[in-house]
Parts: sequence; structure tokens; C-alpha cells
Amino acid sequence: MPELPEVETVKRTLNELIQGKHIDHVTVKLPRIIQRPDDIEAFAFMLKGHTVERVERRGKFLRIVMDGLVLVSHLRMEGRYGLYENHDPVELHTHVIFHFDDGTELRYKDVRQFGTMHLFAPGEEFKNPPLSRLGYEPLDNTFTLGTFQEMLLTKKTKIKVVLLNQAYVVGIGNIYVDEALFRAGIHPERTANSLTSDEQSSLYHAIVATLSEAVEAGGSSIKSYVNGQGKAGSFQHSLRIYGRKDEPCDQCGNPIVKTVVGGRGTHFCPSCQPSPVKSKAVK
Ligand SMILES: [Zn+2]
Repeated sequence: MPELPEVETVKRTLNELIQGKHIDHVTVKLPRIIQRPDDIEAFAFMLKGHTVERVERRGKFLRIVMDGLVLVSHLRMEGRYGLYENHDPVELHTHVIFHFDDGTELRYKDVRQFGTMHLFAPGEEFKNPPLSRLGYEPLDNTFTLGTFQEMLLTKKTKIKVVLLNQAYVVGIGNIYVDEALFRAGIHPERTANSLTSDEQSSLYHAIVATLSEAVEAGGSSIKSYVNGQGKAGSFQHSLRIYGRKDEPCDQCGNPIVKTVVGGRGTHFCPSCQPSPVKSKAVK
């Protein structure tokens, strides 16, 4: 699933591709992608004649801002956008087509069909699900060390589970949570409120640094992720722990372990990220 750096990359590419384009009409081939309004004809009717002003991101959601309308789009597992000429053959799994009046088309393709689109009047998108449930933007000025520390103090669950919860901090998924915890030297099963002040601080800086570097690299291309121009990201070559089971840790040389935390495959180094006290006692 694309995480913050990948969605940020798609956002940047879409801004280059569709800013200023006028929608002539819209074709919906798979109704279930459209979540709001619940009528696909109303969806297509509302979009007719609007102009794309810019594309923004909130968590893992894209916000396509138009004159008087905002389209909130989530790519989920495999959703992707691409700009085509209207005479280009329509590829399999293309579910929504935005036909522009200059002869180009923005096409939404989604093999797994889990992606969603919600249409709102400007500003309404923040008051309603899915965006109303979202927590802090980790690369925003509002996400400070202080707010992060305050957030952790009340959480008795495992730190990895807390970081994956989009209601607290948005955009961090399975790849970047493992990377950030490794950089901070924190075991994924530590309870969030057990972190010392130094650990809170290193984790905070690890999250911000990991996500920023990944954005710079255009995201990580794992499985099928590509940006809006079909280009792959390159951060997968910089991953130090994710997907490296049994390979030597680049800090200590011991083999990287893969386990399951909160139902998610989790990579960590047992020597650089020492177990919580409780599991040590069990051994
Ligand atoms: Zn290590």
C-alpha cells in the first residue's frame, strides 16, 4: 500500500500533469470506487465543467482541488493515476476516466478495486469521513516533539500499533514504521508509554527523517507502486530493515528478524532494538 512518501510523490506528479485542465465529462466504469455521492451519475454530473486548481495530500489521501469542488481519493493497495491521450487504448482495470477538454484524460486504474473517491464542497471534506478522522501530519509544523510526547504518554499499546493508527499520526504504514523504529533503536513491541524521553525524541526525529528522505527519493517502489507518470521511486534501495529478513543488520551484523506485531509483518534487529523487559523474562 502506498504510504505518505508515495502519495506525496503522486501528488507532485499530478500537479505537473493536470493543473489547470478543464473536465469535459467523467466516465465511471466501476461504481463501488465512488463513495460520495452514492449515485455515480450525480458524481459525473457534479464534476462536469470544473477546473483542476491543484492537488494536495492529507495523510494517504489525495485532494484534487477544483473550482468549487474537492475530490478526495485514496489509492489503497494498487490504485494509480495516469494521463493519456483520448485515443490511447483504455487498459484493463481502468475504473474512472476524467475526460479533459484538451483531448487528454486522467485515468484511474485499480487492479484490486479497493480505492475510493469522495466528492465534497470545499472545506466540507475536513468535517466528514474519511478525512475528519485523521491525526497529525508528520511532516507538518504542527507535529512537534512536544505533541508527539504528549500523544505517547496516554497510549498503553505497542508502539508499532500506535504509529500505524491514522487517527494519531497519518501516512506512516508498515514500511516506514519499521524503518523509523530501527533508526531509533526501539523494539516494535515496546508499549508506547514506556519510552523514555530520549527514546521519544529519537523516534520523533527518526520518523521525520525517514519520511523526508523517502519523499526526496520519490517513495519506495515495492510491488506495483509508480507515480502518476509511470515512474518508480528509489527509496526501496535505502531501506535498512524492511524486507531484509535474515540479512545482516547494517549496524551490528546480526541477522534481521521478521515477526508479527499487531497482525502486521514486522522487521527488526534483536540486538539494536532490545526486547521489552517482559519478553526477556519469558526467555
Ligand atoms: Zn543490529
